[in-house]
Amino acid sequence: MTDTLVAQQPQPDATTDLAVDVTTVYRTFDQETAPVRALRGADLTVRAGEFVAVMGPSGCGKSTMLNLVAGLDVPDEGEVMIAGESLSGKDESALAIMRRQHIGIVFQFFNLLEGMTVLENVVMPAVIAGTRRKAAESRASDLLDLLGIGDKAKQSPEVLSGGQRQRLAIARALANEPTIVLADEPTGSLDSDGGAEVLELFRRLHHGGQTILLVTHDQPVADAAGRIVLMKDGRVESDGTSVPEESST
Ligand code: ADP
Repeated sequence: MTDTLVAQQPQPDATTDLAVDVTTVYRTFDQETAPVRALRGADLTVRAGEFVAVMGPSGCGKSTMLNLVAGLDVPDEGEVMIAGESLSGKDESALAIMRRQHIGIVFQFFNLLEGMTVLENVVMPAVIAGTRRKAAESRASDLLDLLGIGDKAKQSPEVLSGGQRQRLAIARALANEPTIVLADEPTGSLDSDGGAEVLELFRRLHHGGQTILLVTHDQPVADAAGRIVLMKDGRVESDGTSVPEESST
């Protein structure tokens, strides 16, 4: 199948090919008993077109890192740059604009709007971002077709299987042609068939040039990524090219 999912991929800032550049970020959460130092000087870069998987034990700061990259949270110290632009000092509305321009987020629990059709779930984010409805509908239809759920466009998300629901969530994340797709445990709540469907989709997106940063505990998902970043205790412990997948035997 020809892959046009990311045909109009916006380019990150011309002065850098870094889609993400996180420098020495710290994030501490105040909790009743004692403060939790979720990030303790973590660095992360993602180049345009890379597929990077973040792994590490529960509580090591993976989701906190993803939230900083998404502009959903801000670090206490350190800097986050997206497509060459620093998020430091941006207020909530400026961060919302940055998210609309650059970020597509796939949440673990899908975050679908059950009262709307499958198509509307993809149209909505684009319309909110300022795309004209006709254009948004046309791109949404194309995305659903390419993701293999075009025949479900007029139905409620309730009719979809777990893997199909996650594919719809990914279609939503792609609606605004984001610089980078972020996903937190995208296969975490799926059975093995659903997980395989979603993994195949991420592979296709990556081959089409989409930049992807995801958090996963799922080794096959991490193996599909070109790079695995291992976090421990709020820092990056190792950062390297993953073992290539077996091509054929
Ligand atoms: P991971 O994704 O690696 O499991 P997280 O980034 O979710 O880890 O969490 C790192 C630590 O920060 C954990 O101890 C978690 O309980 C704590 N934490 C994360 N978010 C919050 C929050 N909003 N408020 C309080 N503590 C938090």
